[in-house]
Amino acid sequence: MTDCIFCKIITGDIPSTNVFRDELVTAFRDLHPAAPTHILIVPNKHIDSINALENRDEPLIGHLFTTARQLAAREGIAEGGFRLIINTNADAGQTVFHLHLHLLGGAPMKHPMG
Ligand code: AMP
Ligand code: ZN
Repeated sequence: MTDCIFCKIITGDIPSTNVFRDELVTAFRDLHPAAPTHILIVPNKHIDSINALENRDEPLIGHLFTTARQLAAREGIAEGGFRLIINTNADAGQTVFHLHLHLLGGAPMKHPMG
């Protein structure tokens, strides 16, 4: 999508702090981190949100999560703990409409969510 900020990060048209890239996903640090580690993991192909997922995307979504596991280990937050968040539409506060998985960790987090 031409006006999607995350598509532009994936193509390199907008700079980002890239931490991982393969044929399916790209990961970069959130511009406004909400935790000591705050990484966004996004599919390389544009998907608006979870609402736009298709059955054929299931391997891609699985890959988003195994990438999160790898990056949590690499960041040193796997044992201490981390949180994965996907916001969908207005009530959840989604602001960028390119599906993304937030990986948050590095300090104790508050409960409850929401
Ligand atoms: P969400 O509210 O779930 O849609 O999350 C969007 C996230 O993208 C927010 O945490 C923003 O801080 C982050 N963000 C927006 N623009 C950029 C950017 N250019 N580079 C990195 N993160 C960004
Ligand atoms: Zn996009």
